[in-house]
Amino acid sequence: MALFDRFKKTQTPRTEDSPAEQPAATDSQTSSAPQGMIARFRQGLKKTSDLLNTDLRDLFKREGRLVDDEFLDELFGILVKTDMGAGPANEIRDRVQADNRGRVVEMGDVLASVQASLRELMAQQEEPITMAAEGPTVVMVVGVNGSGKTTSIAKLAQMFVARGQRVVLGAGDTFRAAAVEQLTIWADRIGAEIVTGNAGGDPASVAHRAVAHAIEIKADICILDTAGRLQTQTNLMQQLEKIRRVMGKLIPDAPHEVLLVLDATAGQNGISQAKGFSDAAGCTGIVLAKLDGTAKGGVVIPIRRKFELPVKYIGLGETADDLALFDVDRFVEALFDAPQGQQQ
Ligand code: GDP
Ligand code: MG
Repeated sequence: MALFDRFKKTQTPRTEDSPAEQPAATDSQTSSAPQGMIARFRQGLKKTSDLLNTDLRDLFKREGRLVDDEFLDELFGILVKTDMGAGPANEIRDRVQADNRGRVVEMGDVLASVQASLRELMAQQEEPITMAAEGPTVVMVVGVNGSGKTTSIAKLAQMFVARGQRVVLGAGDTFRAAAVEQLTIWADRIGAEIVTGNAGGDPASVAHRAVAHAIEIKADICILDTAGRLQTQTNLMQQLEKIRRVMGKLIPDAPHEVLLVLDATAGQNGISQAKGFSDAAGCTGIVLAKLDGTAKGGVVIPIRRKFELPVKYIGLGETADDLALFDVDRFVEALFDAPQGQQQ
């Protein structure tokens, strides 16, 4: 019996035949270098930091400013524009007030209070993917349509392959033939193996075969793509449950991680809708995709508050290299990168 409808295996990343719309992966080894990572954070968060820093500079047009109600209200307005939400913006306002009220301050004084507040509001450890003690680690990736699931899977796969680990992808989005194709192209390019099923087929069967294959070839990690869905689609939510069960039959603890991919450009509404989803799907962490595409990168803060889940990785672009382990300090630094040399 042919165990796999389709089975691909490439050991070395290929770049020569990359389609134009999906830029080729570049040297991913650099992604672990601190310098490269800092630059990536800065570049990825540029839209947010440009807006934030322009507004903050405007707040300090004159030599220093008195920290009074007018100043604090203006500061609040600037913070809210990043989509961090009124609650956090108020907390930062209060902190700046407590630290500086009635004083004439320079931009640097206020930035220090704002940055300290942000760090507290977002406090979390870096949370890489939890690897299974033995056997393949199974990761299931879920979220609504277009949130960035498939691209994030490619990025994660690239990260593991660059570490010399063996990766099996499961093309569990069987709804659209194009979705299988998209993941197959990534797998080829990255040097991951892929297990696919027929378009319209049962995603649980793909999941089963992907995990079985990962066990068979002693892969380090198996990442399963799923079709986009909403929490209100009961049958699709039950399907996720079935996928989990099926994988759990092969490896009792699987899936070890269920990553919810959120689209940072969807704004706070999109994030709120995902809350129920995350509970229903038993998510263990968040990948926040497309942070480079928004000036509202402050949305990380309501995410940290609403979900009792760590933001594990952030997506900072469309190539396989544009993924970063989320780090609060680096994030805050990148947000306030621009004005350092431009303060008056
Ligand atoms: P899916 O439907 O959830 O699988 O979403 P896809 O992975 O297919 O992504 C949808 C679109 O968002 C594609 O055009 C991706 O290139 C784009 N995308 C995904 N992640 C990012 C990101 O971090 N930054 C940017 N700028 N685009 C992204
Ligand atoms: Mg997809």
